[in-house]
Formats: sequence, structure tokens, C-alpha cells
Amino acid sequence: MSTYVNASVKKEHDLSQYKGVCVLGEQKDGQLLPVTFELIARGRTLADDLGCKLSCILLGDEIQEIEQVFHRGADRILFVKAPELQNFLPRPYQNAIVKLIQEEKPEIVIAAATTTGRTVMPLVAAKLNAGLTADCTSLTIDPDTKLLLQTRPAIGGNIMATIKTPQHRPQMATVRPRSSKPLPLDCNRTGELIIKEYENATFLTPEKFLEFIKDTTQTVSIEDAEIIVSGGKGMKNAEGFKMVEQLADLLGAGVGATRDAVELGWTTYPHQIGLSGKTVAPKLYIALGLSGKIAHLAGMQTSEVIIAVNKDPDAQIFKVADFAIVGDVFEVVPMMIQAIKQHKEKAKAETCALSS
Ligand SMILES: Cc1cc2nc3c(=O)[nH]c(=O)nc-3n(C[C@H](O)[C@H](O)[C@H](O)COP(=O)(O)OP(=O)(O)OC[C@H]3O[C@@H](n4cnc5c(N)ncnc54)[C@H](O)[C@@H]3O)c2cc1C
Repeated sequence: MSTYVNASVKKEHDLSQYKGVCVLGEQKDGQLLPVTFELIARGRTLADDLGCKLSCILLGDEIQEIEQVFHRGADRILFVKAPELQNFLPRPYQNAIVKLIQEEKPEIVIAAATTTGRTVMPLVAAKLNAGLTADCTSLTIDPDTKLLLQTRPAIGGNIMATIKTPQHRPQMATVRPRSSKPLPLDCNRTGELIIKEYENATFLTPEKFLEFIKDTTQTVSIEDAEIIVSGGKGMKNAEGFKMVEQLADLLGAGVGATRDAVELGWTTYPHQIGLSGKTVAPKLYIALGLSGKIAHLAGMQTSEVIIAVNKDPDAQIFKVADFAIVGDVFEVVPMMIQAIKQHKEKAKAETCALSS
């Protein structure tokens, strides 16, 4: 573990006026997105450690069931309300968040490393002359200095670096979606809803929202899949990788891949899991012929159960696997496929027998 200081900015600045933790919640079509509750869970721990309030920033026009934000652990909602904020556009979002931060002066602001967070947070950081640590895997409070410790893989994923921002406020970071679990729902929790309305100039932008087009190239989206079957370079070639897809198909699972498998053209980028791909946390992750390098683990190690098949008994993936199968994927996977087919046929026969 190495420690770095985010010294991009050195500016005379009264740090003591900055108080509280803020998370940037997200909505789509007026529905709160699950990542909002994940961020609240992270923010809650930080706010409790600092003994301060946790606020959730929301941008939009109409947001349904907004009280869920309190039920999941926030103390305050800072809702910037305007029709121009209903769909994400970088400039209006940047201007609204900057304005809010300048008014509220939180000492910490956390957003998700989603398309929205990854796009708007660097713009906000630049405008506020603050630092930003992207894609953190862990956020904690230093018990001595009370600074935010922002940990993320660095130098090609070979080290975990902990970054501090001692000289500027707010301390800002993004975290991967699905890298933390929401707190249990507590419908008795309430909080303070603060609605902010800003002048039209805040939302002026040359960009125009046209429409949202959903990616339909994946039959089962890996972000939502309860089971993911993932393949690496050990699948040998595009033909071998089809076995990953076959097993996934049988299980109704999503197809994942390492960066190497994607770069070799065996599957497409939306399937890539890891540091420069997606972060997933399915109930079951089946890793086939992949080594488990840190850049891959960064995207899947919070999966509930991990089964790995690798011919190398010392493969790194076995360090995180719950079930390790040391063997050749070309022998093991056909056996898995056959066993699942037999199980399905047996289950179907039993159902037919019961209904006849
Ligand atoms: C900045 C940066 C970002 C990155 N982002 C990502 C990312 O998002 N996702 C990602 O995955 N990687 C990423 N990488 C790349 C990462 O470091 C590794 O190179 C990559 O994950 C390795 O892919 P692999 O496991 O498929 O291949 P390898 O590491 O080559 O592993 C292949 C494995 O297959 C096993 N094997 C071979 N044949 C068989 C067989 N017949 N049966 C069973 N096992 C077999 C081998 O024992 C080996 O363990 C990134 C790297 C950098 C520098």
C-alpha cells in the first residue's frame, strides 16, 4: 500500500468552514437509481466516523419516492429541482453541483463512477479547483487527521494507492457502482428535504438531450445478472470462448470477459469486467481460464460465490474463489454443461410426472 497526497492544488483556503458529507444520488426518468443507496451506505459510515450529517444531492424535476433516501440512511436531501435537470447533460449538472457545493461547503463529496459521475465530477473538480480520486475501491477516515483516505488500484493495477487531499475542500472521490451494499430499509427514518431552485442561466448549455437508446446487444446484461460466466485467455480462441457463452446460456447468465479476451476480439467491450471495464457483484461468478490479475479482481471480487476453473493451481483467482477447480477448461466445462443439461432434463421430467 502506498500513500499519495493529492497536491494538485495548493491554495489558501479556510478548511474549517467545510462540514458534512455529501453523496451525489442519481435518478432516471424520475426513479432513484440503486447506486444512490449504495453511495448513501458509504457516506453514512464516513459521516458517522466524522460525527457529521450525511446529505444526498439529487438533480432532476420530479423524483418519485424521494423519502427512500432517508429510509436508506441520509440525514438531508439537497434537491436541485429544474426541468432542465431531468436528463443528464454535463454543463447544467456541473453548474448546479458547483453552486450547491459553494453554498453548502461539504468537506467530502462522493459520486458513483457511472457515466454521469465519471463525466460530471472532473468538471466539478476543475471548476472548484479541488482534487478528485476516481474509481476508489475503499474510502475511510484517517482516525488521527480526520482526512478522507481514498484507496484505488494504481500503476496498472499493480499497487493499491491511498490518496489524501489535505489542502483543499471538498475532498472528492468516485466509487464503482455495486462495490458496496445499500443499508437495510428503515421506513421510520426521516430527514430534512431542502429544495434548491436556481436561475435559468445555471442550466444554459449548447447541448440538447435527444433520446436515450438502450444497449440491446447483450441478451443478459452483466450489470443486472445474478449469475455471470466469465472467460479469459485460457479459452484459447474465439471458438473456445463460445463454451463460455454456451454455459452462460444454459444458466440464464450474463457473459463476462477479461480485457485480454476482449482485446483478442473473442467478445465485445460491454462484456469486459475489471478496472477498465464493469464492476459486477452477482450471486454466482464462474471464472473460466482467467488468471485473476488485480485489474480483473477489481471488477468482480465482491461477487457472493466465486467458482474458478484454471489449470494452474497457483492462479491468483483461486485466492478469491469459494470453489477452486484445478483442471483444463476444455475437460471441466463440457462436464459442467452435461451435468446441468442432465439436471434440467431430470427436473423437467419430474414436473411433467407431477402434472400428469
Ligand atoms: C490499466 C489497466 C487496466 C486493465 N483493465 C482490465 C480490466 O478491466 N479487466 C481485465 O480483465 N483485465 C484488465 N487489465 C489486464 C489485466 O492486468 C490482465 O492482463 C488480464 O486480466 C489477464 O487476462 P486473462 O486472465 O484472460 O489472461 P492471463 O493472465 O494470460 O490468464 C490466462 C489464464 O488461463 C489459464 N489457462 C490457460 N489455459 C487453460 C486451460 N486450458 N484450462 C484452464 N485454465 C487455463 C492460465 O493458467 C492463466 O491463469 C488491465 C490492465 C491494465 C494495465
